[in-house]
Amino acid sequence: MGNGFFEVPIAVNEPVKSYAPGSPEREEVLKTYKEMYKAKIDVPLFINGKEVKTKDTDTMSPPHDHKHVLGTYHKATKKNVEDAIATALEARKQWAVMPWEQRAGIFLRAAELIAGPYRAKINAATMLAQSKNIYQAEIDSACELIDFLRFNVQYMTEIYAEQPESTSAAWNRIEYRPLEGFIYAITPFNFTAIAGNLPASAALMGNVVVWKPSNAQVYSAKVIMDVFREAGVPAGVINMVMGDPEMISDTLMASPDLSGIHFTGSTGVFQGIWKKIGDNIKNYKTYPRIVGETGGKDFIVAHKTSNPKQVATAMARGAFEYQGQKCSAASRCYISKSIWKDVKEYLVDDIRSFKMGTPEDMGNFINAVIHESSFDKLASYIDQAKKDKNVEIIAGGNYDKSKGYFIEPTVIVTKDPKYTTMCTELFGPVLTVYVYDDNKWEETLHLVDETSEYALTGAVFSEDRYALEEAVKILENAAGNFYINDKPTGAVVGQQPFGGARASGTNDKAGSKQNLYRWISPRMVKETFVSPTDYRYPFLG
Ligand code: NAD
Repeated sequence: MGNGFFEVPIAVNEPVKSYAPGSPEREEVLKTYKEMYKAKIDVPLFINGKEVKTKDTDTMSPPHDHKHVLGTYHKATKKNVEDAIATALEARKQWAVMPWEQRAGIFLRAAELIAGPYRAKINAATMLAQSKNIYQAEIDSACELIDFLRFNVQYMTEIYAEQPESTSAAWNRIEYRPLEGFIYAITPFNFTAIAGNLPASAALMGNVVVWKPSNAQVYSAKVIMDVFREAGVPAGVINMVMGDPEMISDTLMASPDLSGIHFTGSTGVFQGIWKKIGDNIKNYKTYPRIVGETGGKDFIVAHKTSNPKQVATAMARGAFEYQGQKCSAASRCYISKSIWKDVKEYLVDDIRSFKMGTPEDMGNFINAVIHESSFDKLASYIDQAKKDKNVEIIAGGNYDKSKGYFIEPTVIVTKDPKYTTMCTELFGPVLTVYVYDDNKWEETLHLVDETSEYALTGAVFSEDRYALEEAVKILENAAGNFYINDKPTGAVVGQQPFGGARASGTNDKAGSKQNLYRWISPRMVKETFVSPTDYRYPFLG
């Protein structure tokens, strides 16, 4: 422990660069993109700081150019996963007792590496691997990941400073110990920032981690591992394994030393993980902490007093940015009849102006969806909508996977508020709209609340404060992140901590202190300065 109460730099959000034509950042990222597109990489597993190649490999391709191969990644065997557990537990002996300021130094350094020398690389990797345009890559893989790292360091020190009262006779101290065992971090394809944050936040608090990125995100996960290594994360503290998700998860969850799950992904997978932990509960040395941020069926509800242009813009951005593949993306909208004509006109005009294609062409607002199974699923819902009587497709409706997995941004209008695409998470550029009678505001709010099992994000638009207040009340449990007169996407670390309840997760709010509390186990230490020497209390006379 250092001799001083150290203060960490006050966390500030990383400014988002513009990438406007002629800007140096635009030239640099395009140059890096081209170089990475041409080069072939071979991504190993990272176990105990060593690169492990199993020779059982899969290829990686850009979703917008799926015949082009970016490289290969190695898939773990059961033995590799067991090695990752053993190595993590060995590394824990030193890492768990490492003074916090050293851990802070490592992750603050990681933030600065991403802000500077790795920025173009992590953005280009995210554009290539996950088909994000430069703005979506920048707000995710650069800015959000930097913010997670910086703010979590500050939150850690705030937690450590939370101490109980003491008296002159006894000194009370709380030590915020890391959990006993290892954390299993499981991350989704859609945010490079989440991929980096789930292992890093647990490791920052003194834990050791086995991290399994999504097979569809391995390409940018490799850049994260390079950053961690250069920042000085010691060998064995964060191990990366990929391959068969079920085998990897079963092996890790069978270990008696599993102390926590840090998951982001779909609801079904999370429920399967929870169930397996339940089945194994007698085997664990400690109750594993289970943190999961999962699916959503996020809504926009617009009152008759709302501004149609603002509503249409929130729909265009909220539903279609990153092809609707944000857990927070608007996918069901409830628009009052009297403004619908205008909203529809503005929205359809906006969608007509969207350009779709590769992220390398910076004029493209829309890129490809992540993989073939997602493409096929979305296409099948669109085909079904074309057949169903109660619905009409007013924009998009076409798709093409010959070169990349391209789905046109599609708007379905339904007369049935419980139509399948109003209830099911599709995770793509498909938005369904239900137009309600102006005089059914309250009824519609109850409909919004009761239509989906999820409760992640939602937005209400109105110029009438009474209507807003009603929405705030009736939709209290319908969203963990609730927006007034704004789109339901784009949460910023340190400003809008993110997460939802119901089927959307444990709502431990990524990018906040609440999340970090899950990775520590407090030990209360009471030290009495002069110990009593007689058991008798005065009342005994
Ligand atoms: P996914 O559930 O398919 O995969 C997530 C992770 O789980 C991946 O690492 C995957 O390999 C792993 N996995 C898959 N099957 C598994 C199994 N049987 N056992 C153990 N692990 C398994 O999700 P995805 O397609 O990568 O991401 C999209 C989903 O994530 C959407 O449902 C979205 O709403 C959700 N998401 C939620 C948030 C949030 O903060 N709430 C953020 C991002 C994404």
